Amino acid sequence: MKQQGPQMPQPTTKSSQPEWMNLLLFLTVSLLILYWFNVLTAPEIKVLPYSEFKQEVQQDRVAKVSLRGDELTGEFKAPAGGGKAGGDKQAQPETTGRFKTVLPSMADPELLPLLEKNNVIIKAESTSVSWWLQLLAGIVPWLLIFGFFYFISRRMQERLAGGPGIFGVGKSKARLYSEADTRLTFDDVAGLENAKADLRDIIAFLREPGRFRDLGAVPPRGMLMMGPPGTGKTLLARATAGEAQVPFFSISGSEFVEMFVGVGAARVRDLFENAKKSAPAIIFIDEIDAVGRSRGIGLGGGNDEREQTLNQILSLMDGFSPEESVVVMAATNRPDVLDPALLRPGRFDRKLVLQLPDRKAREDIIKIHAGHIRHSDNIDWNALARRTAGFSGADLKNLINEAALLAGREEKKEVDTETLELARDKIVLGTERTLLLNEEQKKIVAYHEAGHTLAAWLMPHADPPEKVTIIPRGRALGVTEQMPRDDQYSLQESYLKDRLVVMLAGRSSEELVFGETSSGAESDIEQATRLARKMVSSWGMNSKLGAANFSTEEDQVFLGKEIAQPRNFSEHTAQLIDDEIRELLSRQQEISGRVLKANRQYLDSLAQALLNEETLGREAIKAVLQEAKMPESVAAAA
Ligand code: ADP
Repeated sequence: MKQQGPQMPQPTTKSSQPEWMNLLLFLTVSLLILYWFNVLTAPEIKVLPYSEFKQEVQQDRVAKVSLRGDELTGEFKAPAGGGKAGGDKQAQPETTGRFKTVLPSMADPELLPLLEKNNVIIKAESTSVSWWLQLLAGIVPWLLIFGFFYFISRRMQERLAGGPGIFGVGKSKARLYSEADTRLTFDDVAGLENAKADLRDIIAFLREPGRFRDLGAVPPRGMLMMGPPGTGKTLLARATAGEAQVPFFSISGSEFVEMFVGVGAARVRDLFENAKKSAPAIIFIDEIDAVGRSRGIGLGGGNDEREQTLNQILSLMDGFSPEESVVVMAATNRPDVLDPALLRPGRFDRKLVLQLPDRKAREDIIKIHAGHIRHSDNIDWNALARRTAGFSGADLKNLINEAALLAGREEKKEVDTETLELARDKIVLGTERTLLLNEEQKKIVAYHEAGHTLAAWLMPHADPPEKVTIIPRGRALGVTEQMPRDDQYSLQESYLKDRLVVMLAGRSSEELVFGETSSGAESDIEQATRLARKMVSSWGMNSKLGAANFSTEEDQVFLGKEIAQPRNFSEHTAQLIDDEIRELLSRQQEISGRVLKANRQYLDSLAQALLNEETLGREAIKAVLQEAKMPESVAAAA
């Protein structure tokens, strides 16, 4: 059965009232106020008492007057013509300045003769227009006031009915993608084959719910997708809706949590209500950990709002009747903090773990996204995939886009290997910085990086060096990049130890060449210590503690489980762990020193090449280090 998705444009949230209405209202009111205060119409009119006006006439200073009703406006004579000027009736008298006055209510029989005697030009205007104007002026403000209140009350009603803003808080902000928008299919998702296979069940059910119900099967309810950010959770959910051709309601967990308690729960009810109406449908809740964290744990008292929202989700999922074919898909990158109640049968009992893509999947993802840009035909996608280990799907998409932007900036017609390479470097190594280092500082950086590179070249289990540069990038003054041989799913102790040697070799090189170390090794030391701690306390790679887990993950979770976890080992063990870490690090540091010392001439040549060229690629490194050799003593010990 194919369900036609509602043909609503997305998002379903009503757009806010046209702002121009407000603007128009504001402008009208301001104009009227200006008018009433006579700012516009008579900017410099002088108001005279009637008696003074008559005096002015008597002294022959008035050129002309116009009469409308009881209002008299006029203009003064320009003094230029001399005191009694203006005897010539034909010529228009020169005027200066305007005035107005109000005529007394009892008619003044002297006025007209006086004006005539002084040759004042008299203009009488009918008052009928002014009558209309007066009426309008009386009505318009009321019309405006009523219009304003009507407008406000309509907006309130709309908001109460679900618009955005404070009155619409109880309505879900879910975006609905109708079929036309969700025409994503599994072809748009590269890799993730296992996940796709698991989702086929759900698709089959959504397409023909009846078939499953007739068999008495309990329909799937919830699917929880877990994986690092950018691994395609949202994409997969949308593609599932696309494959099943059902409407797709999407909301993020953080949108449930608002400032008012109870609003989240109301939003959930509304969202589920909407989805049921268009069933079969998929509800997608992104970042479910924002509401789905373990209940009862948290700093600073209860988390009523979050708990209520979570309870509401759970009870609605429990309350689905078998006839309602709505599947809830949720995504999180923190499955460890989720409330176990979410994972009970009938709720999110199906789980999908999405990993970072492997080489093949990366190649496929790159190809999908490269399809949207203009690129040259001779790009080696496989090589690019090999050089992007650790990239998520979103990173790869970003890489392609970054390359297209670069090509545009350089006014190239299409993206080529070089632009892709530059874009990759920018993402992996950071943006190049222009820092003016003096010769001595440059030399230190060159030797530091040469140390890393030489160690990476020589250590038998280390990833070989791919590129080394002394152009400052991101926060680093220089960078050595290694190329992982292939995607590694588990890390051997020998590999990790060699990795420590490579990390510490920068510092060893400085010590060997300059007799002292610099602050440039800070991040190397930090990374090496973190790795050593993992090896000793989590992976059992130690001599005194054995295979036991003593990890104390300092996870940056504000309200998660970890904070409530006490350290569950003794002070003595903590001491042993510290000793082991220190020993491991100093042993590897020492090895790096020996390796470099035995190959000092190659270290010098490499540093020199770096000072000359600034950046060396794989081939250039190979040309310098071809003859370098692992010292016997280290080879034997390793
Ligand atoms: P998540 O929800 O896991 O954080 P997304 O689904 O939002 O990640 O992924 C972000 C973008 O990355 C997607 O829109 C898509 O373009 C791209 N992407 C991620 N994984 C894949 C994949 N397997 N195939 C194709 N594109 C992908």
